[in-house]
Amino acid sequence: HKQQLLLLKDLPTQTLDGHSVGLLANVGSLNEISHLTDVGAEGIGLFRTEFMLMNTTTIPSEKIQYHFYCDALHLMDGKPFTIRTLDVGADKELPCLNPACEDNPALGVRGIRYTFAHPEILTTQLKAILRAANHGPIRLMFPMLNQVEELDTLFELIELCKVSLNEQEKGFGQLSYGIVVETPAAVINLESMLPRLDFISIGTNDLTQYAMAADRTNPQLTRDYPSLSPAILTLIQMTIDSAKKHNVKVSLCGELASDPIVAPLLVGMGIDELSVNLASLLEVKSAIRASSHQACLAMAQHAHKLKRIEELNLYLTGLSL
Ligand code: PEP
Ligand code: MG
Repeated sequence: HKQQLLLLKDLPTQTLDGHSVGLLANVGSLNEISHLTDVGAEGIGLFRTEFMLMNTTTIPSEKIQYHFYCDALHLMDGKPFTIRTLDVGADKELPCLNPACEDNPALGVRGIRYTFAHPEILTTQLKAILRAANHGPIRLMFPMLNQVEELDTLFELIELCKVSLNEQEKGFGQLSYGIVVETPAAVINLESMLPRLDFISIGTNDLTQYAMAADRTNPQLTRDYPSLSPAILTLIQMTIDSAKKHNVKVSLCGELASDPIVAPLLVGMGIDELSVNLASLLEVKSAIRASSHQACLAMAQHAHKLKRIEELNLYLTGLSL
């Protein structure tokens, strides 16, 4: 089976009737980037920069980060490279940052809130990324945004970074900008943010946690934290519909995209791009190549009618038998 999957490595990700979908990878290290070609990933849809800081006791300087991103770009060789700014807090603790003492860390100073509370950490990373963008294409995305005011703050910070780089006569390049849509508020407020974005990526791991009010790390809540549910399908569809209205590319980088049974459904719902674990990439490609776009559309239409988690799962697993 594995040998057969490997034969798909250099074939396009498209349905039987020729509908193309982007298939990118979620990675967190240079080592993983060097394995993209093993599975024929078209690029990176999510680079989790927290992993870069896993084994350090201090935040790396702008210069060190700049060289790191340049090394990554060199390995990427012009393919799409999506970097997520530091996303710490709750399930993502780092030894080099003081852990916050909060009663509800998942609802606390995490993601973009953490970096707004420590702007020097964010501006160091932004400057390093802006400089690296001189050497190859970078798509930059921000985690945990709820509303457009946060985008105002981010774009102001980016302008300040550019002024500072100009003063220091350091060159920088253009970036594409996006957000991870991973809170219900982001879904609801999306239309006010889309005019300023080049792309969005749906983070179903956190979107599920916040929609169901169920801690994603709590093993007692597996039933309350389903990988697929009518509520999540509706939130994903709302997000895709808003993005289409504004002609903004929509990707999905949560674990849901790595499930070969779900991928054709997401294609039917109108997703432009999936970003998946390296280990699942060829399975997902195989599932998409085995479906027609017509069948994906019909699947989405039917799935939206199912109002129970159980029914939804039975329907999808039944189709894949
Ligand atoms: C997500 O929340 O779906 C996501 C892709 O990011 P992470 O799992 O790193 O929070
Ligand atoms: Mg997340």
